[in-house]
Amino acid sequence: MKKLSLAFALAVLAAAPAAARLRVVSTLDDFASVADAIGGERVETVALAKGYQDPHFVDAKPSFILKLSRADLLIAAGLELEIGYLPPLIDQSRNDKIHPGNPGYLDASIGCDILQRPTTQVTRAMGDVHPYGNPHYWTDPENGRVIARAIAAKLTELDPAGQPVYAKNLAAFEARLTEKEREWDAKMAPYAGTKVVTFHDSWPNFAKHFRLTIAGHVEPKPGIPPTPSHTLEIINLIRDQKIPLILVEPYFDSKTPNSIAAQTGATVVTFYPSVGGLPEIKDYFSLFDYDINAFVNAMKKK
Ligand SMILES: [Zn+2]
Repeated sequence: MKKLSLAFALAVLAAAPAAARLRVVSTLDDFASVADAIGGERVETVALAKGYQDPHFVDAKPSFILKLSRADLLIAAGLELEIGYLPPLIDQSRNDKIHPGNPGYLDASIGCDILQRPTTQVTRAMGDVHPYGNPHYWTDPENGRVIARAIAAKLTELDPAGQPVYAKNLAAFEARLTEKEREWDAKMAPYAGTKVVTFHDSWPNFAKHFRLTIAGHVEPKPGIPPTPSHTLEIINLIRDQKIPLILVEPYFDSKTPNSIAAQTGATVVTFYPSVGGLPEIKDYFSLFDYDINAFVNAMKKK
């Protein structure tokens, strides 16, 4: 009899639901990856955009509203990267917690090294989708450190009982980042000062950290598709300055970059700005592993 009741008690325990996890929704997989690393078992994370989609222009799905309605925390890039789709979704989610300014909203840009901040009043020059500074800042691993600290602080604020876990996971994340930065910096060091052309202006933070020079963009302005006259300028620029590589985000039409490459001898390299862009880019660390290997392999063939 005693045995039976013990078995019964164990069965009840096994069936009991695990402690509720914090529900974290992020716009980008990059932030979800960091939140996973910091939150561990205490959080469940989901990203709205896929890593192979243009982060400026994400198709809003009805399922996003459901995810946001249940979220305890929303992490966004800010700087108006998500202006085209996120604000109406937040409204439709009817979840007050995650409104900007409320405790369940984290703008990941805060505290990061943000480049190209406007020094004059923002005029929103036609087509400029970077009105408040460059919103692709997570491509500098040091900004990843800032983001990880902000996420750890936010998770601790929302779930104080998890503080020891978040602190331990943050320390592990930072230690790994420091170690990986040494490896990445060493791989990129021989190419310091290399000039590149990029399709969209996604890489100023990456270029700053890894000491590349971005000489021009295939887009005449962020968000404006290539024009024949601008393409000709880029062809001349690449020829004059002997620029070896054109870095192209995976969601742009490769027709113009390929045509520029054919006329100049430059090599087109697909450069992934976000986690999830390829199956092997599974977290924030493998994002840099992939792009740096792609860069180095392309340069070795020049
Ligand atoms: Zn952009």
